[in-house]
Amino acid sequence: MAKEELECSFCGRKKPETSLLIAGLDAHICDRCIEQAHGIVVEESKQSDNSELSAELMLRKPQQIKNFLDEYIIGQEFTKKVMSVAVYNHYKRLLQAPTNDDIEIQKSNIIMVGQTGTGKTLMAKTIAKMLNVPLAIVDATVLTEAGYVGEDVESILTRLLQAADYNLEKAEKGIVFIDEIDKIARKSDNPSITRDVSGEGVQQALLKLLEGTVVNVPPKGGRKHPDQKFIEVNTEDILFIAGGAFDGIDRVISKRLNMQAVGYSASISDEVVDQDNLLQYIIPKDLKDFGLIPEIIGRLPVLAHMNPLDEKTLRAILTEPKNAIVKQYKKLFAMDEIELSITDGALGYIVGKAIEYKLGARGLRSLCEEILTDAMFELPGSETKKLNVTKSYAEQKLSKTTIKKLKAVS
Ligand code: ADP
Repeated sequence: MAKEELECSFCGRKKPETSLLIAGLDAHICDRCIEQAHGIVVEESKQSDNSELSAELMLRKPQQIKNFLDEYIIGQEFTKKVMSVAVYNHYKRLLQAPTNDDIEIQKSNIIMVGQTGTGKTLMAKTIAKMLNVPLAIVDATVLTEAGYVGEDVESILTRLLQAADYNLEKAEKGIVFIDEIDKIARKSDNPSITRDVSGEGVQQALLKLLEGTVVNVPPKGGRKHPDQKFIEVNTEDILFIAGGAFDGIDRVISKRLNMQAVGYSASISDEVVDQDNLLQYIIPKDLKDFGLIPEIIGRLPVLAHMNPLDEKTLRAILTEPKNAIVKQYKKLFAMDEIELSITDGALGYIVGKAIEYKLGARGLRSLCEEILTDAMFELPGSETKKLNVTKSYAEQKLSKTTIKKLKAVS
């Protein structure tokens, strides 16, 4: 065959009409056909990703889910266990084949109660990472009832769609983390005086979403208006995780425990109540007394609490998780071929400051950043290839004013 007569065996284009013609055993393929074929391969593998998700999930049992959480989250054993079971049951519910026994498995939406910086967001993020599903993190404080200044509750789903790159199928199996749910608690027991725009009204609006319904969602967010095109999102298979600090709920718990103690003095007085961590005794009724409406509590059936972080936990957070802060800095320095080491004394000092100034786990990062900024500025490109951060080095880099500054932003 003469060279000019060569053609693509897929589309029939002659060689001069193509930019590139690749020869196989008995056939040729042009650059355009390769590109198209590649597109098909990518598309196909995306779809099989979805089915793989389900297969993989069925294989991961609650204990394996917890093992995964253990790699990223220090402590919080009880909550990790509760979360593992809830997530397992949620996805079991999704994957169940239709049956005709009338038993409908309800959603296992979760509510996490714990001080800020104890890892609530981290927990939601880690679960989403493990399941490889999109995650939207939204703040309940910006939500208001439709028609008022603020965001409609549908905006939550806009975020989830964005997180899923507008892949509706993925979004409908995603996770929504609603932070600061305690801020939409009813402000007083008497809601009749003025309309509680950002409190009970929002709780009412959230109800349907949590339970499972089809919502018209404006894909680009913003207020709904008549000419806008909507995407219909079904929330039935979306896992909702709510989190909040519920400041002051320990008083509610303590009051209840004391009342119980009076009622059943013999049995309760035997038990020692851990006054420093009353959250561990939380029950759904306490959330109601705090100002969540019973219907919301009913739709967040899994109640978990986060323990306050003590010195030992904070220290472990610095060094142990898979992407621990210290590991991250070591990696950053290693990229410039600098070996970073931090002594136990320095770690103790950093943790001590985080506790002293109540900066929590979030403060650990800011403290490290302050201590290492000079080195990160000066060392790359210099002759120094080793940095050993000792307690006195840390002390010297961390002046009183910087700590005050950190305290103000945390
Ligand atoms: P919350 O949502 O409860 O306010 P976050 O999840 O945002 O707290 O936690 C803030 C940061 O603190 C996280 O990014 C993480 O680095 C760290 N952190 C908090 N708790 C833990 C924990 N138990 N294990 C590991 N890291 C933690």
